[in-house]
Amino acid sequence: SREWHLVARPQGWPKPEDFALREATVSEPGEGQIVVRNLYLSVDPYMRGRMNDVKSYVPPFQLDRPMDGGAVGEVVASRAEGFAPGDHVLHGLGWREYALVDAQRAVKVDAAVAPLSSYLGVMGMPGMTAYAGLLEVGSFKEGDTVFVSGAAGAVGSMVGQVARLKGAARVIGSAGSAEKVRHLTEELGFDAAFNYKDGPVLEQLKEAAPDGIDVYFDNVGGEHLEAAISVLKPHGRAVLCGAIAQYNDTEPAPGPRNLGQVIGKRLRLQGMIVSDHEALRPQFFTEVGGWLRSGELAHRETVVKGIEGMGEAFLGLLRGDNTGKMIVGL
Ligand code: NDP
Repeated sequence: SREWHLVARPQGWPKPEDFALREATVSEPGEGQIVVRNLYLSVDPYMRGRMNDVKSYVPPFQLDRPMDGGAVGEVVASRAEGFAPGDHVLHGLGWREYALVDAQRAVKVDAAVAPLSSYLGVMGMPGMTAYAGLLEVGSFKEGDTVFVSGAAGAVGSMVGQVARLKGAARVIGSAGSAEKVRHLTEELGFDAAFNYKDGPVLEQLKEAAPDGIDVYFDNVGGEHLEAAISVLKPHGRAVLCGAIAQYNDTEPAPGPRNLGQVIGKRLRLQGMIVSDHEALRPQFFTEVGGWLRSGELAHRETVVKGIEGMGEAFLGLLRGDNTGKMIVGL
């Protein structure tokens, strides 16, 4: 079995040499354990933070040890009650071909309910982030105008569509290419979208949202957050979900220069971590599952084939090579 190790802590943008694919042996399962042959592995932006040696809400990756992350696979050996060979499970030991997993930390998933890879995307962590972030943290209500950055990605594409399905007055997205902008307006039902590389975000956002916005869902930080603060209406809310424009910075980025507007406009800027919202999961599964079956919710995945390509897939995610969820298929 092969597994990816972090072999050097990236300074700034990660390089291919910071990762290495290495041989490993897989032990027989002990009591309460299962062996899983991984089928789909997740690469996610938060993994960049885990490559730094800093304390955060998830511990850093260790050097010369396998990295971990979301994975879906097939049970090939089991000494755990309720798990049999052939079962499909979602678990946290990704970045490797075979995983020895404590069954308590695995969740059974059903390919008949939703495609297996979707448990890493629209039906999984990014989907929950979008759903809980918009509805609970952003206090979204019918008739709101919503702006989301990173709109063609896993979280962003779901935020925009949930807003549309829940009765937003107007949904606006930004993304990093003309093709992604077209995808947002023509395939995902966004009312307006722009390429943030085409010009200042503030100018493009004002044009797309002439009457202002009620909710900003921030995946990007930096210039996007500053522009959104300027365009938010009084009592508007910003969901601070991610700041991918800053993940490879070597110096802390300055904050929005217009933060003073938060006072006069009584804005609420709130950070979020998806794991705080577990209570919403049953409602999330029911509602999102329904939209997927009815075809009202579209979801795209960008699948890189083979474990060899996983390091490059992660770098590609940071560059924006993906539309929808970036996944490695084994
Ligand atoms: P995405 O699928 O959105 O992939 C990342 C995307 O970021 C790329 O496709 C790229 O698209 C965009 N990007 C890269 N650099 C920049 C930049 N400088 N400016 C603007 N956009 C950029 O990833 P996810 O959907 O998984 O995650 C989206 C965000 O949500 C991330 O910030 C992530 O950290 C955060 N997150 C937070 C969680 C939480 O609990 N708080 C949970 C899950 C995710 P483009 O071509 O448009 O540039």
